[in-house]
Amino acid sequence: MQHDPNCLFCRIARGQIPSRKVYEDDEILAFHDIHPWAPVHFLLIPKDHVPSLAQVTDAHAPMLGRMLALAPRLALQEGCNPYPDGGHRVIINTGREGGQEVHHLHVHVIGGPRPWLKG
Ligand code: AMP
Ligand code: ZN
Repeated sequence: MQHDPNCLFCRIARGQIPSRKVYEDDEILAFHDIHPWAPVHFLLIPKDHVPSLAQVTDAHAPMLGRMLALAPRLALQEGCNPYPDGGHRVIINTGREGGQEVHHLHVHVIGGPRPWLKG
């Protein structure tokens, strides 16, 4: 498993920086975003250090699939209302122009009753 000691989300994945955990298994960690946009806002990350969606290969497809499949299940668990009147946004910022600030692949899951702070 790749690990970058200077990477914030690698350090969160290893428990070296605290986070409010939503879900964890061998491969994936989900935790609440520290600056939520909405009543529900958490991040899904692979424990493996992958800088962004731009570095993803076919070998990452099962992990990406599992993160996407977890998103709606965890969204409901964390208080999003059910589809179709509820729902949530799933965002993967990629690169500087894509709005990415932390260079460890992460999936934002944002939802809950509106209004939201942004989005
Ligand atoms: P992005 O702009 O897509 O790279 O998103 C990075 C996200 O990480 C932002 O929404 C930040 O609020 C969030 N974030 C930064 N530091 C932490 C932290 N220590 N714990 C939880 N979320 C964080
Ligand atoms: Zn990392």
